[in-house]
Amino acid sequence: MALIVQKYGGTSVGSVERIEKVAEKIARFREQGDDVVVVVSAMSGETNRLIELARAIQDEPAPREMDVLVSTGEQVTIALLSMALHKLGQDARSYTGGQVRILTDSAHSKARILGIDKERMAHDLDTGHVVVVAGFQGVDEAGNITTLGRGGSDTTAVALAAALSADECQIYTDVDGVYTTDPRVVAQARRLNRITFEEMLEMASLGSKVLQIRSVEFAGKYNVPLRVLSSFEEGEGTLITYEEEGMEEARISGIAFNRDEAKLTILGVPDQPGVAYHILGPIGDANIEVDMIIQNVGADGTTDFTFTVHRNDFDKAQSVLGKIAQDLGARKVEGDRDIVKISLVGVGMRSHAGIASTMFKALADEGINIQMISTSEIKISVVVDEKYLELGVRALHSSFGLDQEAE
Ligand code: ADP
Ligand code: ASP
Ligand code: MG
Repeated sequence: MALIVQKYGGTSVGSVERIEKVAEKIARFREQGDDVVVVVSAMSGETNRLIELARAIQDEPAPREMDVLVSTGEQVTIALLSMALHKLGQDARSYTGGQVRILTDSAHSKARILGIDKERMAHDLDTGHVVVVAGFQGVDEAGNITTLGRGGSDTTAVALAAALSADECQIYTDVDGVYTTDPRVVAQARRLNRITFEEMLEMASLGSKVLQIRSVEFAGKYNVPLRVLSSFEEGEGTLITYEEEGMEEARISGIAFNRDEAKLTILGVPDQPGVAYHILGPIGDANIEVDMIIQNVGADGTTDFTFTVHRNDFDKAQSVLGKIAQDLGARKVEGDRDIVKISLVGVGMRSHAGIASTMFKALADEGINIQMISTSEIKISVVVDEKYLELGVRALHSSFGLDQEAE
C-alpha cells in the first residue's frame, strides 16, 4: 500500500468520457489498496478560452481578477472527476486550492507556494476518500485567489506530494514520458527511462513544457520521486532522478526549444564603461527579464548590443530601448520577433569536448545561420530564425545519435 499523488493534465480530462476513464484508472489504484490524492488541470483549451474572454474586455485586466477568472477552469474538473468517482462507488471529495489551504504569496499569475495545510487531506485519506484537488491555484494570506503560472498544476501535485511525504508523484499527460525532444516535432524522438533533476530542470527552463519548471525545482529540493506517464497507455514512463554512476554515458540527453523569445539590438552606442548598465538597468526597472546577451565591438569606438526577452515583453522592451537609444545617442534600434532558441542539454557534456563544434557543423550543413550562442556546463543554446526550428532540431537530434532506430 502506498500513498500516491497523481496529476492529470488538460487533455487527459478534456471531455466527460476522458474524465470517466481517469476515474476508472484511479479506482484501480484504490482497489490495489493505494491511497490517492489527485490533482487536475482545467479541461484542455479552457484556460486559454478564459484568458481570451478577459482580453475581449481589457488588454491588461487586473491580475487579481484574472486569477479569480482562470482558477475556475480547475474547479469544474475537480467536481466532475469526483462525480465520476462516486459513480464507480468510490468516496471522493473535491477541494479548491483555497480550501485545502495551499497558501501562496500574493504575486498574482505567478504565485509561489508557501505552505500547505494537510490536516483535511490526511483526515479524508484516513476515512477512505480519494482527495481531488484543483491544480494551479492557491490563496494568499488575505484570502485572495492566486494562480501559479501556466502549467502550474504540475507544481501543485509535487507540492502536495512533498507535504504528504507521498511515495510517488505521477504526472499523467498526453505523451508516455519525457522524450529526447518534443515528439510532436521529431517523430524519431526516444522516450527516456530516466532523466536527472538537473537535466529536466534545464530542459524545462529551455522550453520543454512537459513539466513546469517550478515542479522540477520543488521535486529536487524536497526529494519527491517524480514520474511522467501517459494517461492513455500503460507503461513505466520516465522517472526523474538524481545523477547516478553510469548514467552520464549519453553525452546529450535532449534537445529543448523555445518559441517564446524575441531579440532586440541597439546599434552604435559608445564603447565605454557603464554602457551595459545604461541599457539593461531601465529594462530591468520595467520588470522585463533578459535572457541572452551579446556585445559586439565595432572598429569606430562604438558597439552593438543585442539581447533577448520574452515575446510578450517585446513591445514594452522596444519602447524602453527607444528612449535609451536617444539618451545614449545610439544609431538605431532593431527588433526581431521571429527567432527561436534551440538548446542541447546533458550532464555528460561536462566531460566531452567537441560538442559545440558538432552542433555548429550540423546547423551549418543545413544552411542555418546562428545569431547568438550561449553555453553553460550542461547546455549549449543557439538563437536561429524561427523558420529553421523544425529543421534545426531534427538535424541536431540525428547528428547526436538520438534518433530511434527504425523498427
Ligand atoms: P498537460 O496538459 O498534460 O500538462 P502539456 O501540454 O503541458 O500537457 O505537456 C505535454 C506536452 O509536452 C506533450 O504533448 C509534448 O508535445 C510536449 N513536450 C515538449 N517537450 C517534450 C519532451 N522532451 N518530452 C515529452 N513531451 C514534450
Ligand atoms: N490550466 C492551467 C494552464 O493551462 C494549469 C495547468 O494546466 O497546469 O496553464
Ligand atoms: Mg502541462
